[in-house]
Amino acid sequence: PGAHALAYLQSKLRDVPDFPKPGILFKDITPLLADPRALHITIDLLAERFIGERIDIVVGIESRGFIFGGAVATRLNAGFVPVRKLGKLPWKTDRLTYALEYGEAELEMHMDSIPKGARVLVVDDVLATGGTASAAAELARRQGGTVEAFAFVVELDFLAGRSRLDSENTRPAVYSL
Ligand code: AMP
Repeated sequence: PGAHALAYLQSKLRDVPDFPKPGILFKDITPLLADPRALHITIDLLAERFIGERIDIVVGIESRGFIFGGAVATRLNAGFVPVRKLGKLPWKTDRLTYALEYGEAELEMHMDSIPKGARVLVVDDVLATGGTASAAAELARRQGGTVEAFAFVVELDFLAGRSRLDSENTRPAVYSL
């Protein structure tokens, strides 16, 4: 992508200090979502590198991963499978507890939501420590998928989420804008 386009997208990301708690610099993507041109460019950039790679399923992580993941799935002619926080999915689920910076969290995916051998792309808005994306990938593999890649809009480099995803998963590619 051109430097001009990236600068434009960057200008639509809002940094909110101390949200949701002191010390966290929150990357607010809602200005980007609300801007027609920025939204369109973002989805194009997220999807384009996977065109021709045969992605069967996009796994989107609640909740902002649903917005980008759903749009990317239609671009790739792939299906969409949600990974949700505990207690939101109505049918039989597989669940995984994973460590957060402070405490732990649980994610769920519907059983048999992914066809055996499906090629999976995991999508979320922000890559921070990589714990959430790693857990989503593990759920996708447990349902029979092979995780080909991760795609994010924003990457917080200083948290080294990329190297975590590289080491814990069988080296799928990690992309961010
Ligand atoms: P992590 O598991 O540490 O990679 O955290 C990633 C998840 O938390 C994603 O679903 C993000 O939406 C959210 N998240 C973590 N840190 C931030 C941040 N600084 N700004 C916005 N969202 C964040």
